[in-house]
Amino acid sequence: MKINSAVYTTSATDLRSCPAGRLPEFAFIGRSNVGKSSLINLLTLRHGLAKVSETPGKTQLINFFTINGAWSLVDLPGYGFAKVAKHKRADFNEAVADFLEKRESLRHTFVLIDSRLPPQKIDVAFLEWLATTDAEFSLVFTKADKQSAGKTGASVARFQREVIERLPRRPEIFISSATSKLGRKEILAHIGRLLD
Ligand code: GDP
Repeated sequence: MKINSAVYTTSATDLRSCPAGRLPEFAFIGRSNVGKSSLINLLTLRHGLAKVSETPGKTQLINFFTINGAWSLVDLPGYGFAKVAKHKRADFNEAVADFLEKRESLRHTFVLIDSRLPPQKIDVAFLEWLATTDAEFSLVFTKADKQSAGKTGASVARFQREVIERLPRRPEIFISSATSKLGRKEILAHIGRLLD
């Protein structure tokens, strides 16, 4: 998919204040600092589109971008700074949980995982919860350039073994790097297929 235009539309604090879902939506979510803003900028090739931040945990807004006038990219707040007590929906930010469970125009969600880390409790808890909803999702393992391909492969395999195989549904997996552009084509192709 070629990106011809990527335009910030609006931000919302909760499901109720989200704009009318005129276009199919593709959401991105992950722990703060996972590389979500960098991935959004990579996908759109607009480097200032999502703010890349050195101070994680600040953005609590749901941000909407219109891509090619054909679909919406939804930047969801990171979930790293919520208190976690197992599997409770409210632990991930009520607005995000609401959005993922009830947003009718939501077509697909990409859950970002840091490829360098062993499975993190909060990611596991989030995925276990997400798999209980009707939301369709896939996983993106980020920052692959920060280590060898072998290490990334081992990390993804471990995540598959310890987390994915235990989920009731098996998401597709992508590997990305904002510096080498790895994964860009594949993720956009996936979105393209879902739009067809
Ligand atoms: P967010 O909080 O999830 O939006 O994460 P950011 O996109 O702001 O990234 C957090 C930090 O990781 C920033 O310093 C980025 O430059 C860095 N980063 C993000 N993605 C990558 C990547 O693919 N490769 C490398 N080397 N650094 C990355």
